Amino acid sequence: MMTELIAKKVEGLPLTQLEITYFIQGYTQGTIPDYQVASLLMAIKFKGMNDREIADLTYAMIHSGEVIDLTSIQGIKADKHSTGGVGDKTSLVLGPLVAAAGLKIAKMSGRGLGHTGGTLDKLEAIPGMSITRTQKQFVEQVNRIGLSIIGQTATLVPADKKLYALRDVTGTVQSVPLIASSIMSKKLASGADTILLDVKFGSGAFMKTLNDARGLAKAMVKIGKAMNKDTRAILTDMDQPLGFAIGNILEVKEAIETLRGQGPTDFTELCLYAGAMMLMQGGRVKTLTEGKRLLKNLIINGQAFEKFKSFIGAQGGDTRYIDDPSKFEQSAYRIDITSDVNGYVESLNALSLGEIAMKLGAGRATKDDTIDYTAGIVLKKKIGDEVHQGDVLAVIHTNLNETNELMKALKDSFTVSSVKVRAPKIIHATVK
Ligand code: URA
Repeated sequence: MMTELIAKKVEGLPLTQLEITYFIQGYTQGTIPDYQVASLLMAIKFKGMNDREIADLTYAMIHSGEVIDLTSIQGIKADKHSTGGVGDKTSLVLGPLVAAAGLKIAKMSGRGLGHTGGTLDKLEAIPGMSITRTQKQFVEQVNRIGLSIIGQTATLVPADKKLYALRDVTGTVQSVPLIASSIMSKKLASGADTILLDVKFGSGAFMKTLNDARGLAKAMVKIGKAMNKDTRAILTDMDQPLGFAIGNILEVKEAIETLRGQGPTDFTELCLYAGAMMLMQGGRVKTLTEGKRLLKNLIINGQAFEKFKSFIGAQGGDTRYIDDPSKFEQSAYRIDITSDVNGYVESLNALSLGEIAMKLGAGRATKDDTIDYTAGIVLKKKIGDEVHQGDVLAVIHTNLNETNELMKALKDSFTVSSVKVRAPKIIHATVK
């Protein structure tokens, strides 16, 4: 049977719903071997899938495990997902911001791998913070304070856990139907009423171009719609890191600054825009302008910050660190990387910065690596900024004794032009 499915897909023919369910169930239960699934995945990567197949694949993946029931949470449950990038601490700010505006955020997040960070690691950088809750505690917390972020349960979309691990070692990660079904199955199984997708493009993202990001966003929005969920996407820049901070404690501190109204311009703009979209999806406001105004007020009057504190406190985190971020542990060394020339920052390679941060200890090369929460990079200049010879471009935070190669790589991640460069915009389009 699997050989027939493979042969069909090799010919570019669509698979039926029955065939798709058969292969997902068989693979999850272990009756279909890796090598046959790997072969089918490769055929899918080359021949693609139509919208109906992608929806059927997502549906079969959702039902390979537990589907979370959030109906005991009152109000609109909003979820967001970012396709990942460097310096992306958006959930830390968007969660409390949108919860302070009255929506319910019952969110499951992931860990970082490779050059991208993960929300769970950032949360765990806060002393005492726990990312595991029982279903009862999770629901109780969201009903009480409007916000909880926890790790994905082992029973959520087991098909994706197996498929992703296989894709990772068989060159089949880069495929729109496979990425879209992977992301959307987890989102849809998590039980929220609305889904906002932040699809990144650029050097630090999965999708390198705006066009590719649009293709992925459209595929995911179609899946959401096929399952009757209000699903929208924004396409945002990940050619350079988001904000200034890369690395767990450094990013938590930047998120706190942003919740206090003193965050980086690009990051703040993204949070307000995405938050306003979520408020529109939840019927809380009619326009983006109204949404952004409401959210700005929640930052100014301190309610978003207070919401973050209640959330951290509710999950065991020590809120004294939130009140006074200078309490956070710091790395043993801080090394300035300076410019050799005068000019304007023309590009900032997000992928290479993410990799350097990982090597400094901020991320994992493999799933079993441990993280140094203090490690990372703080950018001092971003694309469009003027620099003079000797100006600090970035600061390395590290506990490593030997960093010469990483220092050089960090300097090489910047290109400086003699002509003026415009700062790129952060939000490029929306898809709904
Ligand atoms: N993130 C996911 O969860 N799945 C993919 O396939 C790619 C990115």
